[in-house]
Amino acid sequence: RQPFPMAQYRQRVNVVWFKNNDLRVHDHEPLALAHQHKLPVLHVFVFDPFWFGRTRHGRFPKTGSFRAQFLVESVQDLRQNLANLNQNLCVRSGQSTAEVFQQLTAEFDITKVFAYSETLFEEQAIESEVRQVLKARSPGTQLRTVWGTTLYHLDDLPFDPSTAFPKSFTSFRQRVERSASVRPTGYEWGQADVRLQPPPKAPAQAQTSFWGPMPDLPDLGVPTPVPDKRIQLATKGGETAGLQRLQQWLWETKGLSKYVGTTDWGTPAKCSLGPDSTTKLSPWLAHGCLSVRLVYQEVVRYEALCGRTKFSALLIRELIWRDFHKLGTIAWGNDLFKIKGPCGWGNGLTWVRNDDLLQRWINGATGYPFVDAHMRELKATGYTLHLGREVVAWFMTSDLRLDWRLGAEWFESVLVDYDCALNWGNWVYFVLQQAASRQARASAPTTLATTEVLQWGAEHDPKAAFTKKWVPEVQHLTATDAREPWGAVCRTHQV
Ligand SMILES: Cc1cc2nc3c(=O)[nH]c(=O)nc-3n(C[C@H](O)[C@H](O)[C@H](O)COP(=O)(O)OP(=O)(O)OC[C@H]3O[C@@H](n4cnc5c(N)ncnc54)[C@H](O)[C@@H]3O)c2cc1C
Repeated sequence: RQPFPMAQYRQRVNVVWFKNNDLRVHDHEPLALAHQHKLPVLHVFVFDPFWFGRTRHGRFPKTGSFRAQFLVESVQDLRQNLANLNQNLCVRSGQSTAEVFQQLTAEFDITKVFAYSETLFEEQAIESEVRQVLKARSPGTQLRTVWGTTLYHLDDLPFDPSTAFPKSFTSFRQRVERSASVRPTGYEWGQADVRLQPPPKAPAQAQTSFWGPMPDLPDLGVPTPVPDKRIQLATKGGETAGLQRLQQWLWETKGLSKYVGTTDWGTPAKCSLGPDSTTKLSPWLAHGCLSVRLVYQEVVRYEALCGRTKFSALLIRELIWRDFHKLGTIAWGNDLFKIKGPCGWGNGLTWVRNDDLLQRWINGATGYPFVDAHMRELKATGYTLHLGREVVAWFMTSDLRLDWRLGAEWFESVLVDYDCALNWGNWVYFVLQQAASRQARASAPTTLATTEVLQWGAEHDPKAAFTKKWVPEVQHLTATDAREPWGAVCRTHQV
């Protein structure tokens, strides 16, 4: 795109800067704040090429096909939802966020830019570039960031996460549940009786092209995903589809009445429970198409109307897990991405780099069908159950001993619900920490992990239906042999 020539007259505006993780109009504080001022509001989204580059260690695409498609659909839906409010969304691609703001400051007299604040270094680096651009243009122009994306607001926590973050999830949960409460959704709209301001006029020299076309995946350098019929639940990006899924799961199929906690290991046969056993809201939550407070509020409303059950408490616990990882990033900082992880969790562990083993893990060709089934599902659909994520991650770290960061980066690349804090947080808290404590406990830690992987297969895929679905090579075998095909081989050869 050619930069627009410097405008003669620059209209005064406020800006709402939407990012990959807040793609909605409901319960959106920066949007509400921007419209409290008596100025036209320009809404902006940038498909920054940075997010379509490569991961640091594994050189995987940072955003794989499934997530890229979900993102494009979500931005498209945001544009439509803003249009329903007589607003526009300015979409830019092929330029960095800083370059886009550089242009916008030439075209408009920007008073304030409103956005959610960030805690992770890549996002903060972009934020800091935008600050510099705004300051260079006019020292008075502010980037006003507000906290969002968690259930509990940062200011309501009973501890300072940067200095006194609880060491365990249980302690975190008990402290927030005891001392903090969840703010109602959209409280900032209600408080100020906000009316939407008119959209700004496109700069005279730009007019029709100003709002920008929606890119398609090839424009972003991403191949179009190939749908796989075996997917658990096909998802479409956007606030509209996210709200529909919430409505359908909670109120129509009454999914909460049979909800199985994602991190609850007590329920057997998790692989055969069907798509409604958990909410499957993660892609919409990760892209901010749904506000986590709205999900919480709906669960509380359901309880009020249909009675309190253990299932709602289970779901709220998972939402608190989400907060634990998101707020944990404040305490853990960049240690989250280092080989030893935060708090020295990975101390004493040694790792190998073996490209052949890594490729076999990625492609679901390790020879352990229960592991391979999850890895193939992940690659073919962008999703696998929490149970599967733990199984393959533990296998990769405890058995293969491969540098865990490559696993986290592969997940980053392929997951449709990738959320930096949740992905890296789960890798360090569930996987790295466990690998270290296993090593400390067991004399033969690798054998221990392998045995557990087989045990989980038997427990959670007793008929091997899930394994056979993704590893058709073992379809003709009995359930036990399908999960452990070496047994059949030994019998055939009378070993
Ligand atoms: C190695 C590893 C990597 C992961 N990476 C991601 C990721 O990038 N993005 C992501 O959304 N989840 C991630 N998870 C957590 C979890 O697997 C998914 O949130 C869950 O499978 C999503 O399915 P659901 O929406 O049906 O979950 P539900 O059981 O319906 O839970 C509702 C919501 O709670 C949150 N949640 C549930 N479990 C966890 C958890 N363990 N940690 C944090 N939040 C949780 C999610 O936002 C989820 O959508 C990861 C887990 C592991 C073990």
